[in-house]
Amino acid sequence: AVTHKVNKILQPDFRFEDLGVGGLDKEFTKILRRAFVSRIFPSNFVNQLGIQHVKGILLYGPPGTGKTLMARQIGNMLNAAEPLIVSGPEILNKYVGQSEENVRKLFEPAEKEYREKGDESQLHIIIFDELDAICKQRGSRNDGTGTGDSVVNQLLAKMDGVDQLNNILIIGMTNRKDLIDDALLRPGRLEVHIEVGLPDEAGRLQILKIHTAKIRDNNVLGEDVDLEELAAKTKNFSGAEISGLVKSASSFAFNRYIKVGSTAELAQDFSDMKITRDDFFEALEEVKP
Ligand code: ATP
Repeated sequence: AVTHKVNKILQPDFRFEDLGVGGLDKEFTKILRRAFVSRIFPSNFVNQLGIQHVKGILLYGPPGTGKTLMARQIGNMLNAAEPLIVSGPEILNKYVGQSEENVRKLFEPAEKEYREKGDESQLHIIIFDELDAICKQRGSRNDGTGTGDSVVNQLLAKMDGVDQLNNILIIGMTNRKDLIDDALLRPGRLEVHIEVGLPDEAGRLQILKIHTAKIRDNNVLGEDVDLEELAAKTKNFSGAEISGLVKSASSFAFNRYIKVGSTAELAQDFSDMKITRDDFFEALEEVKP
């Protein structure tokens, strides 16, 4: 089943934007080459070459650039179980004093399945969002609790234990790679580091296409809207901000059609509604990078 989904990626006409992630082709390809091949061709890699699966990836870069989206797609392509997404602050704050226990519990479902099914087990992905919150360089926390230290130690112990398990992939995400404890970034831990930066103009065009796909399908995008022009005008926007821009333009358009205070008007037909270039320009006043 894994190869079936991955086969799609190996086709010449495959486009990463079909995955709903724009402007990150190079990053995806790097992840595929560095971290997936052993899982796609396990017998060749693991048996013949004796190469172990990559157990952890670090995705770093500014907020809203598609790190979570990518992590989910990785799971999807590898037919993984629904990923567990936990945020660093959540681990630290949810149950004060139980952070290490929380880390341990995250690995339990995967460990249990591996005991039962071995290499037949589904892949389990654990995503640590805002990893820097728990992984500030050990010893550098000055809140006097030392909580961060022991959580990192627990995480390190767990990651090293993953050596015995082939069914876990850990994905760490952060806006501040410089704050991540070096011990976590060593081979065998979060060893593949992928920078996910702000999209360039071509990337922004891809992202605009993705986020207008539905309204284009429904014939709601005005003919005067030029996505290439918008890609040029959205310098320094993240993917999340481009998505916000499209939503904002849509709501400007919708509001032109609604006459508040008249239910008869509200019942009107919206079939001729269009989101116009002007709506996007009004949205550009509202949504800033
Ligand atoms: P954070 O660091 O804040 O967690 P992130 O990098 O994980 O941010 P996402 O949560 O993946 O960002 O992005 C938020 C939303 O923005 C996505 O659900 C998607 O709608 C949109 N988005 C961001 N980047 C992209 C992209 N490259 N292609 C398409 N959509 C994107």
